[in-house]
Amino acid sequence: MTETSTMDTPLKKLVGDKTAKALASHLDLHTAGDLIYHFPRRYDERGEHTDIRSLEVGEQVTVLGQVQRTAVRPMRQRRGNLLEATVGDGSGGTLTLTFFGNQAWRERELRPGRWGLFAGKVTEFRGKRQLNGPEYVLLGDGATDGEAAAQEEIEEFAGALIPVYPAAAAVPTWVIARCVRVVLDTFTAPEDPLPAEVRAGRNLLKLDTALREIHRPSTKEMLGKARRRLKWDEAFAVQLTLVQRKHRAASWPARPRPRAEAGLLAAFDARLPYELTDGQRRVGEEVAADLSTAHPMHRLLQGEVGSGKTVCALRAMLQVVDAGGQAALLAPTEVLAAQHYRGILDLLGPLGRAGELDSADNATRVALVTGSLGAAARRRALEQVVSGDAGIVVGTHALLYEGVDFADLGLVVVDEQHRFGVEQRDALRAKAEQPPHVLVMTATPIPRTVAMTVYGDLEVSTLSQLPRGRSPIASHVVPAAEKPAYLDRAWRRLREEVAAGHQAYVVCPRIGEGPATAEEAGEPGEDGRRAPLAVLEVAPLLAEGPLHGLRIGVLHGKLPADEKDAIMRSFAAGDLDVLVATTVIEVGVDVPNSTVMIVLDADRFGVSQLHQLRGRVGRGSAPGICLLVTEALEGTSARERLDAVASTTDGFRLAELDLEQRREGDVLGATQSGRRSHLRLLSLLRDTDLIRDARAEAIALVEEDPELERHPALATSMAALVDEERAEYLEKG
Ligand code: ADP
Ligand code: MG
Repeated sequence: MTETSTMDTPLKKLVGDKTAKALASHLDLHTAGDLIYHFPRRYDERGEHTDIRSLEVGEQVTVLGQVQRTAVRPMRQRRGNLLEATVGDGSGGTLTLTFFGNQAWRERELRPGRWGLFAGKVTEFRGKRQLNGPEYVLLGDGATDGEAAAQEEIEEFAGALIPVYPAAAAVPTWVIARCVRVVLDTFTAPEDPLPAEVRAGRNLLKLDTALREIHRPSTKEMLGKARRRLKWDEAFAVQLTLVQRKHRAASWPARPRPRAEAGLLAAFDARLPYELTDGQRRVGEEVAADLSTAHPMHRLLQGEVGSGKTVCALRAMLQVVDAGGQAALLAPTEVLAAQHYRGILDLLGPLGRAGELDSADNATRVALVTGSLGAAARRRALEQVVSGDAGIVVGTHALLYEGVDFADLGLVVVDEQHRFGVEQRDALRAKAEQPPHVLVMTATPIPRTVAMTVYGDLEVSTLSQLPRGRSPIASHVVPAAEKPAYLDRAWRRLREEVAAGHQAYVVCPRIGEGPATAEEAGEPGEDGRRAPLAVLEVAPLLAEGPLHGLRIGVLHGKLPADEKDAIMRSFAAGDLDVLVATTVIEVGVDVPNSTVMIVLDADRFGVSQLHQLRGRVGRGSAPGICLLVTEALEGTSARERLDAVASTTDGFRLAELDLEQRREGDVLGATQSGRRSHLRLLSLLRDTDLIRDARAEAIALVEEDPELERHPALATSMAALVDEERAEYLEKG
C-alpha cells in the first residue's frame, strides 16, 4: 500500500483491485482525486427521518432506518420461508425488507431497535413499500458479530452525520465511505488554488480541510463551511474563465461604427409606425454606445417573447450600415430566417430596396442566404454580400460555415441564443478582418445567476416591458383524463376563434412516422407511458373530427425547407386556419392574427418551452388563449408544472422553476450511479450570493493579474473544472 496519495494516484493502489474495478466500472472513479471529489449526496442522522413515504417505486435508494420487528413466514408459491423485517424512519412511514430462504442468523442480526443503512430498489407489494433482499449495514451499539469489516462500519457511522454517496447497486454507499476513509488516511490535497487573501477575506476553509470535512464532517457547522468552500471553487473557476474571456475580448480591436447624424437609422426611426418603448430606447442607447467603441460589442439582449427585440436589432444593424459596414442576422431555422427576411423588408420599406424604382435615397439591400435557395438565386445573393451591396444579410447559422464572404462585416446579430453555442460565436471572428460586434438575442428569460454563469462573458441588456396595447395571454390546463368534456370545449373554443376570423395553433410533441428527432420532446415508451401525440397522426383525426371543415396545415422540422416556408407563408397570409405543428413554431414565428394555441400532451414539454410556445398567440390586439391539454392527474408534479405555467406569465419566475426542476431531475433521476458533472455542489438557483461574490473576486483578480501568471495553482485547477460544464450547460440550455 502507498504511503501517501495525491489526486492522481490510481485507486487500485489504495483500495485493492476488486473494489477499484467496481468503482471504475460502475461509478467512473479511477483516481484518488475522482473519489475525493465524489461528494456525498446527503447526510443522514440517526433518529432523523429520511421520509420513507416519499420513496418512489423503482428508485434505487439508501435508507437509514430502525428495525421495528421481524417475522418469518412460509412462502405461498414456493417451499421455504421468507424473512420480513419492518423498518421505520421516525416519519411514521415503514418499509418492508424481504429475504428469501432460511436465514436464522439474519433474523438474529436484525434485532428490533437496531439502526442500519439499507440499500436496494423500491418495489411495491399490496400497497406497501419494500426492498427485496437489500444490502445493508447495521450501525452502532450492541453489534455482536466480531467481523473486522463490520467493526469498521460501526466506526464509520459512529459520527452523527452519515454520508450517503451517489452509489450503484454493486457499490453501495458504505463501500464508498470505506474507500474514502482509506484514501483520506494517506491523501495529500493539491496546493490550495484559492489565493490566501480571498480565503481570508471570504472566511473560507482551506481546501484540504474542506475535502476532509465534506466526507467526514465533525459537526454540521463544519460541513456547512466545507460545502461553502467547495462551492466557491466551482463558482470561482467558472467566473474566472468568463471574466478572463471577457477581459481578453475587450482588448481586441474592432472598427467603431458610431451613429450617423442623418442616415438610414434616422430615416427608419422617422417612418416607424409605433413609438419605441422605454426599454427599447434604453437598449438602443446601450447598443449604440457599444458599437461606437474600438472594441467589439458582446452583448446579450434578453426580452420576453413579443417584447420587440427585432426592431432593436434592426436599429443596431442600420447604425452599422450607416457607418459603412454590413450586418448579418442569424436565425436558428430556415423558417425563421425567411420570416425575419420578410419582416425586415416590410419594416424598411423603400429603405431596403436600393436599386429598385421606389427606393429611398440612402437605401440599402437585404439579402437572404439559406441552404434552400436555388443556384441562381444563391449566386445573386452571394454577389450582393461580397460586393457590399447588401447592407443586411439574413440567414441561418450555416452562414458561418459556408463559404460566404462579406465585404465588411461589422455586426452579427444572433436570434435565439439558446440554440447557439460558444464555438459558433467564436467562428464568427474568422468572418471579418477585425472581429465584428456581436449581439445575441434570447427570448428565454435567464435567471441572473445563469446569465452570470453561462453568459458571463457578455454584457446583458433586458427588455422587461411589452409594447403597449398587447393583450395578455390567458392560459388554462385542460385535464383530458379527468374531464374529457373540457377537451371538447377546447376544440369548440378554437372553432369560435376561427369563426371570428382568427387563426390557431395545435402543438404536438412528436412528428410521427419514423424515430424521434431532437426536435421532439418526450421519450416514448421508456417508462410505460404511451408515445406522445404526433403531428402526422393528430392532424387527420382533427380534420375528420373536431376541426372538420377548417383549413388545416401541417408544419414540422422534417419537411423540406421550401415546403415549410410555403406553409408558413400561407398561414401568415391567412390561407390556413389552423397550423398543426411541433415546436418548430416555438421560436419567433410571428402571425399576429393567431389567437389560440392548444398544446397536446403539454406535460411532455419543459416549462420554459411552454412559455415560449404560447408567446406565439396574443401578438396582435386580440387577446390570446393557450390551452394546455394533459392526461397528467391532479397532484402529480407534471400537473403542478402546468399549473404554474398557467398561473403566471412571468418568464423569469418560470425560468427559475425550469432550472429548479432540471436540477431536481438530476438529483433524483436515474443518476444514483452519479454521473460526473463539474458543478457538483453549486446550485445556480440557490447560491446566488455566492456566485455574485465569486464574480466580484474574479473581476478583481483578473484586473490585477489577467493571465493568472502569479496564480499558477489557480490556473491549473480552473482549466480542469470549467470547459465541460459550460459546454454541457449550453447544450441543455
Ligand atoms: P420578439 O422580442 O419576440 O422577437 P418581436 O420583435 O417579434 O418580438 O415583436 C413582436 C411584435 O411587436 C411585432 O409585431 C412588432 O412589430 C411589435 N412591436 C415591437 N415594438 C413595438 C412597439 N414599441 N410598439 C408596438 N408594437 C411593437
Ligand atoms: Mg423574435
